[in-house]
Amino acid sequence: MKYLLILGLALVVFWLWQGRRRATLADKARSQGTRPTSARGQVQTTEIIACDLCEVHLPRAEALTGGRGVYCSDAHRRQAEG
Ligand SMILES: [Zn+2]
Repeated sequence: MKYLLILGLALVVFWLWQGRRRATLADKARSQGTRPTSARGQVQTTEIIACDLCEVHLPRAEALTGGRGVYCSDAHRRQAEG
């Protein structure tokens, strides 16, 4: 009987610990999910664009801008624009 009580207590402690851990992880995810703001107070977003040749999606920061569009690589820019 004594062991059952100890086991029950251990389960309760474990359950509470798991609940707290989940809440902490959720808090962490929430705080990471908030977007950082720049000095001007604008929300920084990672804009995803599609390559004009192969239509692969990539962040705008990694795309190459050509005369007629944006491309995923220099090879595609050259291929599309000659
Ligand atoms: Zn491409």
